[in-house]
Amino acid sequence: MRIDKFLANTGYGSRKDVKVLLKKKQVFVNGSIVKNSALHINPYEDMIKVNDTLIKYRKYIYMMMNKPPQVISATEDKRDKTVIDLLPPALQNFQPFPVGRLDKDTEGLLLITNDGKLAHHLLSPKKNIDKTYYAKIDGIITENDITSFRNGIQLNDGYVTKPAGLSILHRGEISEVLVTITEGKFHQVKRMFHAIDKQVIYLKRMQMGRLKLDQSLALGEYRELTEEELQLLN
Ligand code: URA
Repeated sequence: MRIDKFLANTGYGSRKDVKVLLKKKQVFVNGSIVKNSALHINPYEDMIKVNDTLIKYRKYIYMMMNKPPQVISATEDKRDKTVIDLLPPALQNFQPFPVGRLDKDTEGLLLITNDGKLAHHLLSPKKNIDKTYYAKIDGIITENDITSFRNGIQLNDGYVTKPAGLSILHRGEISEVLVTITEGKFHQVKRMFHAIDKQVIYLKRMQMGRLKLDQSLALGEYRELTEEELQLLN
């Protein structure tokens, strides 16, 4: 791997930024100053330092984002900003992608990674990974609704959903609920409520598998998963 790509991938900015570092003689490979940005290094065997800091190579990144509304959960979009646009170039260098989709107006937990194997594991229908959403619903949720969710709801295309959890946080003209589903059909939560003649007016994903949204993240903020959080996903 080229030294400029290596440094960009480990958080030292764009390749242009890295060129400046090299020019300033701040990069060392196995103890020798390197100025050539095209130099090939072995990220696992060579000892790479920027000034006195030893750089550990990593192939994958795992970020948790609190997705804001009005942003698309995709890697690119012709019209709108994507969640990837919210990341700095140093992280975009890893070619990350969101794991699954949230609607444009849905907020909350979104995992962003470049680890295709983990994404596949989390999205596989066979794995039945729970996803829990906080929702505000226009209408009063009844015990019948809870039973219907538990038994499976027939959507407008005829598909019957797998058993889903519905619990009431606040009952009123505008109800607040937690919904847990194990699938990821298009607009699933909204369509499930639509099928019982109710409308979702706010939706936020709180949890995916055992990974919980860090509530201290403001909308649009992100951070790396901790080792412990990463273990929870495997
Ligand atoms: N269900 C929905 O309807 N929308 C989402 O964004 C996620 C789940």
